[in-house]
Amino acid sequence: MRIGIGYDVHAFAEGRPLILGGVRIPYESGLIGHSDADVLAHAIADALLGAARLGDIGEHFPDTDKRYAGADSLELLSHVAELLQESGLRIVDVDAVLILERPKVSPHRDEMRRNLASSMRIPIECVGLKATTSEGLGYEGRGEGVSAQAVALLSEV
Ligand code: MG
Repeated sequence: MRIGIGYDVHAFAEGRPLILGGVRIPYESGLIGHSDADVLAHAIADALLGAARLGDIGEHFPDTDKRYAGADSLELLSHVAELLQESGLRIVDVDAVLILERPKVSPHRDEMRRNLASSMRIPIECVGLKATTSEGLGYEGRGEGVSAQAVALLSEV
């Protein structure tokens, strides 16, 4: 068995769509990033890469590379899942938490889990997802950005 941890942060900006776990969530602003800035998919991808000892998302999908401008992060996650498979590793379980003050994301939780699971080609039961506020503290609490943390468990095939 191998374990990995992932963490990511993106800042809010007006005029951007808010995409979390591949779901476009109606809100007054969205997250800034070179790709679609899906902070949740990025944290999970880093947890998987960490567990596989395959570096990190910045190495695989550099933000200086035009190919990844506006990229669908679920596709990046899917690519990471393929790399793991090529390395003889199977994704056993993933759990993640989103930290944000607003908007409320719980109505979208299962759709996010479904998207993430299908891009990793694992059952939805193997993807845990929670959301929390930071009680008004820090950048998440001030509504300046969103952070995400994830853990992944892999096994050798
Ligand atoms: Mg990111």
